[in-house]
Amino acid sequence: MTAAALDAAAFLRAARDIIPADRIFTAEEDRSAYDDQMAFPSDAHKPAGAIAPVSVEEVQALVRLANRTKTPLWPISRGKNLGYGGSAPVMAGAVILDMSRMNKIIEIDSDRAYCLVEPGVGFYDLYDALAQKNMPLWMSVPGNAWGSVAGNALERGKGPQPYGDHGATICGLEVVLPDGSLIRTGTGAMEGSATWNLSKDVYGPAWDQMFCQSNFGIVTKLGLWLMPAPEATMTLNLQLPHDSDLGRGVDMLYPLRLRGLIDHDPAWVSYVGIASYVGPRSNWYEGEGLLPEEKGRAIRDQLKIGWWNCQLNFYGHEKVIAAKCDAVMEAIGQHFPAKLTPTTWRKGDDFAGSKAGIPGTLDMAMINWYGGRGGHMGFSPILPADGKAAQAQFERTRKRYAEAGLDYYGAFAVGARSVININEILYDRDDERMANAVPRLMDQLISDAAAQGYSEYRTHISTMDRVAKTLNYGNGAMGRLNSLLKDALDPNGIMAPGKSGIWPARYRS
Ligand code: ADP
Repeated sequence: MTAAALDAAAFLRAARDIIPADRIFTAEEDRSAYDDQMAFPSDAHKPAGAIAPVSVEEVQALVRLANRTKTPLWPISRGKNLGYGGSAPVMAGAVILDMSRMNKIIEIDSDRAYCLVEPGVGFYDLYDALAQKNMPLWMSVPGNAWGSVAGNALERGKGPQPYGDHGATICGLEVVLPDGSLIRTGTGAMEGSATWNLSKDVYGPAWDQMFCQSNFGIVTKLGLWLMPAPEATMTLNLQLPHDSDLGRGVDMLYPLRLRGLIDHDPAWVSYVGIASYVGPRSNWYEGEGLLPEEKGRAIRDQLKIGWWNCQLNFYGHEKVIAAKCDAVMEAIGQHFPAKLTPTTWRKGDDFAGSKAGIPGTLDMAMINWYGGRGGHMGFSPILPADGKAAQAQFERTRKRYAEAGLDYYGAFAVGARSVININEILYDRDDERMANAVPRLMDQLISDAAAQGYSEYRTHISTMDRVAKTLNYGNGAMGRLNSLLKDALDPNGIMAPGKSGIWPARYRS
């Protein structure tokens, strides 16, 4: 038994004085349920157990107990962060603090367009609450929306909408610090604050982002800005036919994003991505090795899609968006032989999909691409908004996928100044060849990106140290700052050790 597991056993025993035994999970099948989604069976990230508080006071009591037994905790909201490690901890033997039972929607303000939620609130819960009360608000959802509003925002998840940078729409957190004390960020630091979830202007340092992708506290309430339901939405579907078209795809969009004619980050998605929602691969190809080019062409023909595919959406007052859409069509029309025709949606129309903030799980179908017990892992570097750079990154990445014997699936979300390149590595978790290939591929991709000066925006629990090491400016100055903060806030090293490559002194050596 590891030292962490021994500490955990004492913690889990003593926790029975704090919460009832039916919210403490130590059976083998419970431990395995908090799964790391890795491409091979391994105990590298297996928790010692899980514990599910229902109140802030219980969270505080458990954190104080963890300090006494020196037990590492790993907080999750709903634990659906599948492509980046699921609900498993970085460190084996940690105890999962499963916050999914703290699932109250505390407030929705339809006039000022925000909500305040507990961590266990799922996208479906918030959607239902908005719909039931007929509130004129839209949320932004990720492609696969079975996770939590809070967990996704804390990981800086993305959605295809103007409010699609979920980390950036956080306004005001309540956090249990590693010593068990409770704080509220932003203007919520004032007793009786009237503007906690309304304003990011704050006196002194702003701490909301300090609790994103970090291990400095457990978030127990999260304020999030929502989008006023638009009067109308216009959609333009774009396709480019060749693999070599990504560069022009990026160059045609980012200046329009920069100038505000497009107000979300539209993504160019490779055709295997779209086929994987319809898949599995065996629909088209039963053979070994990479999908042959002629099969790729057959998929594109059958699904009537391009090599690269993108959806542009315009949200708001109908006259305004019609003018924006016209200007965009004029700017990019030369790239498309067939005249672009937008579809317009109005209030009351039957909307579908994440562009309208409607949660769905269709995207998860991608893990069935290879059949078997499917899995996926995200590799997500940030590039400059530059067509040449994006094309080169794509070619480099596809070559590495080919070396690993895996079909390429990438998406490039075009921002005003940068592009987030989300690559999904799809695999069958029980296929030994793939199991061995995936970690090597990830390692290679991280090295390749770093050689270009690109870091990742998010990574899987198994590569958190690896990515943290690439942040090497000033001989790792950022890592030293993170360690300083970690040791000051969490001297016993109980809070999510290893999250984002940040380790407490206790485990650093
Ligand atoms: P989701 O259910 O939305 O997919 P998760 O619950 O899997 O999100 O959370 C993703 C990651 O975010 C977790 O692994 C953890 O590191 C961090 N996290 C989630 N919830 C909290 C929280 N309430 N406090 C602090 N960190 C959290």
